[in-house]
Amino acid sequence: MYADRINALPPYLFAAIDESKARMVAKGVDVIDLGIGDPDRPTPTHIVEAMCEAVRDPATHRYPSYAGMLEFRKAAASWCKETKNINIDPVSQTLALIGSKEGIAHVPLAFINPGDVVLCPDPAYPVYKIGTQFAGGEPFIMPLLEENSFLPDLDAIPTDMLARTKMMFINYPNNPTSATADRSFYKEVVEFAKENNIIVVHDNAYSEMVYDGYKAPSFLSVDGAMDVGIELYSLSKTYNMTGWRIAFAVGNEHLIKGLGKVKSNIDSGVFDAVQRAGIAALTSSQQCVNDMNRIYEQRRDVLLKGLKGIGLDVKPPKATFYMWVRVPDGYDSMGFSKLLLEKAGIVATPGVGFGQYGEGYIRFALTQSTDRIKEAVYRMEKLRL
Ligand SMILES: *Cc1c(COP(=O)(O)O)cnc(C)c1O
Repeated sequence: MYADRINALPPYLFAAIDESKARMVAKGVDVIDLGIGDPDRPTPTHIVEAMCEAVRDPATHRYPSYAGMLEFRKAAASWCKETKNINIDPVSQTLALIGSKEGIAHVPLAFINPGDVVLCPDPAYPVYKIGTQFAGGEPFIMPLLEENSFLPDLDAIPTDMLARTKMMFINYPNNPTSATADRSFYKEVVEFAKENNIIVVHDNAYSEMVYDGYKAPSFLSVDGAMDVGIELYSLSKTYNMTGWRIAFAVGNEHLIKGLGKVKSNIDSGVFDAVQRAGIAALTSSQQCVNDMNRIYEQRRDVLLKGLKGIGLDVKPPKATFYMWVRVPDGYDSMGFSKLLLEKAGIVATPGVGFGQYGEGYIRFALTQSTDRIKEAVYRMEKLRL
């Protein structure tokens, strides 16, 4: 009944976890969900207020423009200048997206022909690979290994693959490993992309979720990056706006144009009222972002201390709201997440759900209050691993 592209989708590895979670909840267990990467706190009030005002204005009720309102694109470009010190033209180098997931899924349709290779990290957000496959492309896995600080080893990609490679996805600060990349890595990527004629798509969804004074650089801040790539920024994680569906792409104008061509034939843009709320988010004081980061930092420190206390080897992440933790000896990632759920009522995501190189790890999301995280730590202590 389904098309081949649907039948070819990988099995949904979280189904077993979802099922057991539902069973535990039905039994009345107080489950602590550290599984999902979705901010638990509400969208800041000034953004909600901007939306309320905008939605009452009939001017927002009609079809939006495909590329996004010029004011939204200007706000996005100014935000890029302020936070990342990159110069972006709001007209030719900026495109509004219905969430960055939408951009990731659609960008291969603009550039990938059947048989073209796309370099995809593993473990990773699954959409890079699936978007590639939907476009008829062939994903080639770049393993993200702990010994390489979870950066891909570009020298390890075989030459015959490179000849067929048209695009690569990268994502730092990284989901699920919480690894960060510095500008020297981006320089290496630009050189590699120029040498091999590869389009770079950098997913920067966690650009502002940073701790201990760390600042996540823009890929586009490196010389030559604008020739080879685009960068996707999302308001979802930065402003607790996952449900609103708003993000933007910036970068090389031909690439932006190509993605725009796909989108104008598939969707009709972001609701103007949501774009106005987005403008409020991007142009107002960024104090709300700092405040959220303080909260995540505090949660991180509580979980870090707890995990160390039960003998797990963890380092404090500098960015993202994830902790990527090696499972104890004697477990695989599925087995350990099962144990946490069944014996402690804690949901954490098995690393293998992000790809084969996620095996041996588990991901905790800091999306519960400090008190709930303390409770989770207390329950883990009682497991006596
Ligand atoms: C959450 C997430 C996204 C999706 O963000 P939206 O803008 O809400 O679509 C994209 N990439 C990564 C790595 C994410 O974790």
